[in-house]
Amino acid sequence: DTAPPEALTALHDTFGFPAFRGVQEHVVARVLEGRSTLTIMPTGAGKSLTYQLPAVMLRGTCVVVSPLIALMHDQLRSATANGIRAATLTSADTDRMATMDAFRAGELDLLYVAPERASQQHFRDLLSSAPVSLFAIDEAHCVSEWGHDFRPDYRLLRPLLDAFPDVPRLALTATADQHTRADILAQLGIADDGLIVAGFDRPNIRYAIRPRDSLQRQLKAILDENPGPGIIYAPTRAKVEQLAEALGASGRRVLPYHAGLDPAIRARNQAAFVASEDMVMVATVAFGMGIDKPDVRFVAHAGIPKSIEGYYQETGRAGRDGDPAVAVMLWGAEDFARARQRLAEVEDHRRASERQRLDALAGLVETAQCRRAILLRHFGEHPPETCGNCDNCLEPVGVTDATQLARKLLSAVYRTGQSFGLGHLEKVLTGQGDDRITQRGHDQLSVFGIVTAQEAPMLKSIARALQARGSLVPTEHGGLALGGNAREILKGEAAVEVVVAPPRERRRGKQRGA
Ligand code: ADP
Ligand code: ZN
Repeated sequence: DTAPPEALTALHDTFGFPAFRGVQEHVVARVLEGRSTLTIMPTGAGKSLTYQLPAVMLRGTCVVVSPLIALMHDQLRSATANGIRAATLTSADTDRMATMDAFRAGELDLLYVAPERASQQHFRDLLSSAPVSLFAIDEAHCVSEWGHDFRPDYRLLRPLLDAFPDVPRLALTATADQHTRADILAQLGIADDGLIVAGFDRPNIRYAIRPRDSLQRQLKAILDENPGPGIIYAPTRAKVEQLAEALGASGRRVLPYHAGLDPAIRARNQAAFVASEDMVMVATVAFGMGIDKPDVRFVAHAGIPKSIEGYYQETGRAGRDGDPAVAVMLWGAEDFARARQRLAEVEDHRRASERQRLDALAGLVETAQCRRAILLRHFGEHPPETCGNCDNCLEPVGVTDATQLARKLLSAVYRTGQSFGLGHLEKVLTGQGDDRITQRGHDQLSVFGIVTAQEAPMLKSIARALQARGSLVPTEHGGLALGGNAREILKGEAAVEVVVAPPRERRRGKQRGA
């Protein structure tokens, strides 16, 4: 589809852009024809324009449903800067009466609301008394339980949308796997042929995923190699604080960001980061949504993200200007162990999809194949086998059949009663008797000393791989127990392959020393 010439004029005049990018034109054209659409575009691809431009052109107001007040205010700021007549209607706004008057009078191009307000009866009444041109549903994956960020309030939107059958709907999201896409279409009542998916590849981002051995040292190395602005995602507020302090001691400007900080400090840190050319933000995933900083040069994960979608979204904040950027994930077996433990707390009907999500992430982490190919396949694309710009393409790793050694390890776990940690198991398997071992009679077990000195160094990575896949699960007291398909592996019915990484860090260390 091509957009009418007036659209191009508005693109120049209102937004100052010479041309549409990627699928933007296609989406705008459909919306201007009044056809409901779901568009899936990666972060930074320019989703906002696809509703803001029709909002400017169409008579009446485009009502935008958005999940976060902070996000709305960012959008509002940039729309207003372009001379678009926009307003937000949130509990944080004191001028709600004036906004509603302007809305009724047809003096607004855009009106941003949260889903919980949009689904209320008095908002529906308000819409009945105002000219509405378009419904834009931002972060539309929130409507799906398959999505990674389900918000029950999004489910309440449907009756509102259905009450205005002549108003087209435009749903937007950066992340949606095949399953979630179909669900969004169904939930929001958009026909299947209304799906427009942009390419997901971010060729300038170099992906690398490594086991975590010494987090601070590894992060320090990443900072040294990347002098530009960067984000380090940490799993908890405490970890954010701790890393920000430790890394800041090295001279680089490093600030923390998480939802527990005073809002004024948070805003100040964010503003400092946006303005900076070399700063590092250590943050929880609360940071990044709606932040327009195109020159982020690296994104590091200090632990695993929630899912491939989360990984893609978070790493996608790097290199939005198109210049080279890196994304490095440092993962540990305990990340997967914790995530699998958390599965137990998930509601029953969601557990299967959450488990699949985690398995898919483990597949990305544990692979010897091209990371980009796996990411893009996850989003339904058919990429080439290699990309030349990820760790596995640049330094190919081998895959080894470790089934025999995995069986020895699992068998030791079983025979020692599924309550000991890896350190103890390693001693038993390599035949190092100590008091604890003799006291418990573990030196009398058939598994005592069955691992050779040659095999021994592999035990850690096998344990990591087995934990990532859920074949080994942690016990309450820090031991390891059998889980997942451990019994199949023990019986010889399932194989275990592990990635054999080249000694990257050591090699790099030598180069620097030379
Ligand atoms: P998304 O919401 O998809 O992450 P945004 O809507 O925030 O992306 O847009 C990302 C950046 O791209 C913004 O700085 C925006 O001004 C810019 N942009 C959007 N469309 C175009 C275009 N057609 N030409 C040039 N820049 C654009
Ligand atoms: Zn690759």
